[in-house]
Amino acid sequence: MADTVKLGFAPIAAPRKGVLVVFTDEDFRFGAQTRKALGRAQALISLAGKADGFSGKSGSALELVAPEALRGLSRLIVMGVGKAADLKAADFVKLGALAMGRLPPRAEAATILADLPAGAMKPEQAADLAAGCELRAYSFDLYKTKRKEGEDKSRNVQVTVGTTEPAAARKAWASRESVVDGVKLARNLVNEPPNVLFPAEFARRATALKRLGVKVEVLDERAMKRLGMRALLGVGQGSDHESRVVVMRWDGGRRGTAPLAFIGKGVTFDTGGISIKPAQNMEDMKGDMAGAACVVGLMHALAARRAKVNAVGLIGLVENMPSGKAQRPGDIVASMSGQTIEIINTDAEGRLVLADVLHYANTRFKPQFMIDLATLTGAIIVALGHEYAGLFSNDDKLTERLVKAGEVTGERVWRLPLGPEYDKLIDSKFADMKNTGGRHGGSITAAQFLQRFVGKTPWAHLDIAGTGMGAPQTDLNKSWGSGFGVRLLDRLVADHYER
Ligand code: MN
Ligand code: ZN
Repeated sequence: MADTVKLGFAPIAAPRKGVLVVFTDEDFRFGAQTRKALGRAQALISLAGKADGFSGKSGSALELVAPEALRGLSRLIVMGVGKAADLKAADFVKLGALAMGRLPPRAEAATILADLPAGAMKPEQAADLAAGCELRAYSFDLYKTKRKEGEDKSRNVQVTVGTTEPAAARKAWASRESVVDGVKLARNLVNEPPNVLFPAEFARRATALKRLGVKVEVLDERAMKRLGMRALLGVGQGSDHESRVVVMRWDGGRRGTAPLAFIGKGVTFDTGGISIKPAQNMEDMKGDMAGAACVVGLMHALAARRAKVNAVGLIGLVENMPSGKAQRPGDIVASMSGQTIEIINTDAEGRLVLADVLHYANTRFKPQFMIDLATLTGAIIVALGHEYAGLFSNDDKLTERLVKAGEVTGERVWRLPLGPEYDKLIDSKFADMKNTGGRHGGSITAAQFLQRFVGKTPWAHLDIAGTGMGAPQTDLNKSWGSGFGVRLLDRLVADHYER
């Protein structure tokens, strides 16, 4: 029942039916192509604009029943972009999303003219508009058997982007579509309920990437025991659902080149275990696998657009439940690296899962770098809210590249410190380390813990607890799961690591 958008590109012209969306700057000026398409309708638009006090401010819009001169159209939407010269790459995706959001609920066809006062948009910018439309239109209503009144049928909208270079825009769209599909896949995984998406089912869905040419291996508990992943297994031991680790490989780069490694926390439901969480909002803990969802979405994007890179994605999938078999505070486990961990709080489980998966990724693949994503700490929401993901890294170059990719995609990251003073806080009386460092600097001590499992490999940890799920709805996302990280990391790969 989900809405679907059918996207197309065509030469710039006024369509004969549906909704027409055009852009104007804050001086209420149109591009030359738009003026041509609007023709005699311009006089009426400027009258209507004056009457409404519409100026073309960024985010503003003027909505009109289509003027006589544009016969057949159901509606004309004039969208303000503010100072057109100030528009940055991320803004074009947002413009597409805003346009999509302005379409009336029953619209069946819409045409968006990719044109600004300074000239026609570039093919990449026209394709970005299309990406924004798709991201905005996403909804997750798999489990609704009824629509609200007046919404008895699912909406199919034909969206056409009018551009001076349709063929080039179509080409630019092809790779963006792969990335958008990766974002939607990640959102679907985050939004799924935890009774449906338990570790084995999550692994099954990741296995579907095989059809894109991704090599997928699934490690079951026996295989993990043999490898000595006792930190990860300890987290899952209270659950009736078996744990899994999934290894996904995309070999699109030169043979023999060390891969990039992406690692995701996939706690399909986190009750906190014996250190059980309060009931309030516990349902949100179905999203404690947003890091793993991002890694699967990213691998989808890279494979679908045939990225010229070697990349591996590894996800640790467990369910953290209290039971007679569950791990206790006070337990000491030996991680795959050989380092021992005293469990202080069974709710600090994500780092235990990542400890083994990071060590495994590092020793097996000797990657160029490792980036892990995890809904790791509530403390990161206290520090950064829902706007930035927390970034921790042992490598300045990788950090700089991630920050830049964040600015370009709008999936922003903010670096927080690491250091020996913080590292001391996780020393344990009885084992090599303990799994919490206390309330103060909680996101930092969690990152310090992870750092003990990455060796000298360049590494970055993204704490996405505030951005991966339950984030406030944005222009690009009206759903609960955001798919945060897919566009960020795809961009990082595209800008620096493809041959
Ligand atoms: Mn937890
Ligand atoms: Zn967790």
